[in-house]
Amino acid sequence: MTQIKRYVKNAYLIVFSIVFFCGVVTSLALYHEEKQHLMLDENIATEQFITRLKDALAQYGREVAGVAIMIQSMDEPLTNPIFQRASRQLEATEKNNTLRVYFAKYVPHSQRDTYVTQQQGLAGLSAFQITPSEIRKEYLPLTYGYPFFTNPGFDLLSDTYSNRDVIQQIRSYQGFEMSELPTFSSEGVKQKTRSFALRRSIYIPLDNIKNRVTDEFGFYGIVGIIFEVNGLVRQLNVPGIRGVAYRIADITEGSQPPVWFADSRTDININAEHISHWEKGHFNTTDIYYGGRNWRVDTRNSSDLLGLIDWTLILGALILFTLLALLLSWYVRLLSNAYNQTLLLANEKIEIDGLTGLYSRYKIQKELDELIKTCELNANKLVVFFLDLDHFKAINDAFGHETGDKLLVKVAQRLKSVLPDKAIIGRLGGDEFLVLMVLDDKKACVFLERLCREVILQISQSYFVEGGTLNIGCSIGAALYPDYGQDAETLIKNADMAMYEAKSAGRATYYFYDGAMGARISRNMRIETRLRYALQNSLLELHFQPKVDLNTKECVGMEALLRWEDSELGTVSPMEFIPIAEQSGIILMLGEWVFEQTFKHLVIWKEQGVQVPPIAINCSAAQLKRPNFLSHLLSLLDKYQIDPSLLEIEVTESILIEDAKGCAELLRQVSKLGIKLAIDDFGTGYSSLSYLKDLPFHYVKIDQVFIRDFMEDSDHDALTRAIINLSHELNLKVIAEGITRVDQMERLREYGCDIGQGYLFSKALGANSMASDPMIVALNEKQGDSDSFGG
Ligand code: C2E
Ligand code: MG
Ligand code: MG
Repeated sequence: MTQIKRYVKNAYLIVFSIVFFCGVVTSLALYHEEKQHLMLDENIATEQFITRLKDALAQYGREVAGVAIMIQSMDEPLTNPIFQRASRQLEATEKNNTLRVYFAKYVPHSQRDTYVTQQQGLAGLSAFQITPSEIRKEYLPLTYGYPFFTNPGFDLLSDTYSNRDVIQQIRSYQGFEMSELPTFSSEGVKQKTRSFALRRSIYIPLDNIKNRVTDEFGFYGIVGIIFEVNGLVRQLNVPGIRGVAYRIADITEGSQPPVWFADSRTDININAEHISHWEKGHFNTTDIYYGGRNWRVDTRNSSDLLGLIDWTLILGALILFTLLALLLSWYVRLLSNAYNQTLLLANEKIEIDGLTGLYSRYKIQKELDELIKTCELNANKLVVFFLDLDHFKAINDAFGHETGDKLLVKVAQRLKSVLPDKAIIGRLGGDEFLVLMVLDDKKACVFLERLCREVILQISQSYFVEGGTLNIGCSIGAALYPDYGQDAETLIKNADMAMYEAKSAGRATYYFYDGAMGARISRNMRIETRLRYALQNSLLELHFQPKVDLNTKECVGMEALLRWEDSELGTVSPMEFIPIAEQSGIILMLGEWVFEQTFKHLVIWKEQGVQVPPIAINCSAAQLKRPNFLSHLLSLLDKYQIDPSLLEIEVTESILIEDAKGCAELLRQVSKLGIKLAIDDFGTGYSSLSYLKDLPFHYVKIDQVFIRDFMEDSDHDALTRAIINLSHELNLKVIAEGITRVDQMERLREYGCDIGQGYLFSKALGANSMASDPMIVALNEKQGDSDSFGG
């Protein structure tokens, strides 16, 4: 059931995780899709780029072929005007105006002079010569040029021309060739520029030679187009396609590394930085073969992939899913809360307690509501008992919850048998019970007290559970209607508070709520807070009250007593704050402080040369029960180098009632160290001297309530004498607390009481007034005497 509840409680986390996870997966898928898409785009762009490049080259090819065919198909020799006109048409097709066209004419040696003379006749070429001026069988001089003419007359068949072999090839196979072009500078020096030439040989059909000069196969000359790389690449940028970065190298000669002549990142020189930039990322490589040359083309996306990705969709999806996850988990949380609430309500509305068969918490509260209504009508009184078992947790811890449950069942049965029939009984949960009773008779209060005593008595009779005997006590708090509460809630709260008082008073008792109780509880809470503060800020003090030998009147011991002067609460008596410290657990820290402080004082007195008798420290049950009590004590003795015989420990008899066996061993060890033990406030508890005989006590302290009036109260007188006599029989010395009058002291001495303590002798002294106290002075003088006698 709790498992299901936990799942329901955490369902919103699960829903959030699932939906958010879906969001992450969707975003990743979108990212992947987008990346694929971009890579596809890149491939398409590359393809388009390559197609464009090929188209551009083919266009140059078509143009050179166009000029060649035009020259071939003429019926007369080519003249400059015709060449210029044909070339000008190219200009129309070439958008970038970077084309240059030339015609090199085949000239056999026999025609050389005629040719030169003819050329010299052309406008501006009067100094025309075939260069270099070698004598050969045939020549191929640059004859016409468009739009301008560089190097007229330069002979492409000359030995000095580096492309001569290419020219011969073109001539022999009649195709067209492209080559890395050396421009014809005025110095005739070959320079590599970023331009190419595409050449084509012109053959005149042999049957149509007419008056033209060709070789025997009809070779008439070569037409060439020079195009610049810049002009070429300007045609390649494809609008509408995501930018393609590219670089182009001519690798015909197999040069390694390739000579890059175009790069989309620059239109001037390609340097090492451009090259290393390419080496970093991935790119596609395509080889293009055209006009006898082999080009390598590298392409890739012009910008980084991450930069190209459309993040809006991807992040949008993630945000959308996150919002959805938040919304859904919020909704599921609402639902699960509602579900748990329903479960809770369903649980709460159960009328019978499953374990004991008594009314449930829900039902008994409902009953109380009803009873209040009828009592109001009939002007009746009503009592609410809040009953809580004492130390039930200890039974659970020692024997397990199953045994605890069985005990609860038996307690419930006993409760039913001891309470009158008209009592309505319910279990609030745990070991808490609520009893309601309408009171119709006037002597109700006397009857109620008797009933409480009877209930406590009956409940604390032994139980037989699982073959063993168990004992448990109970504390009762009572609140009366209408005097101390007009509604169920207040009545239960006040009865609870009274029960708390009963517990504080030492358990196994009952309390009736009165108006002052609330104020008392709130004062206790204040004391608790202030006490913590006082302890942390060292605002407490130890005072020391002498104990006097009744025969010799010598001071034989001192009791360390806490003193606290609070700035807000004023002087608070240990009678008031020690029980609060015990209930709240502060006593542990407080006890340690008292021990340490006592040791410090002992050291100081020793340094001052003041002899002090043994100091008795009061020790609470909780302190003694600490597992490290003994080791802590030993470490303090060691730290301050204190003789253990200077210490005494006072414990109240209630410790022995609670856990005689457990304490016995510890007390024995403490006693072995040489520390004397006293049993404090003797006579107030359910004391039986019998268990004292097995324990290592040295002193019994008769509680001051007996001493106060033993001379007037014969019972107390008898008790005082009995305690003195019995203690002596057990070899214990007796200390009487609270002696205020001389006659008390005298009578006690007659009874044989050994030691007295009380205002008659001295109040507790501050640590600093110790040295000047007459009793201590006397002690020191006596000690000095014996020392001087001895020494
Ligand atoms: P106690 O151990 O029985 O201490 C004796 C109490 O009687 C002291 O009260 C003391 O001042 C008081 N007293 C002494 N002579 C007379 C007298 O002639 N007449 C009257 N009426 N009272 C006298 P105090 O100091 O108020 O302490 C009350 C209790 O608080 C102590 O009772 C002791 O149980 C507890 N207590 C005090 N200091 C400590 C401490 O350091 N640790 C622990 N655990 N308890 C302490
Ligand atoms: Mg004491
Ligand atoms: Mg005492």
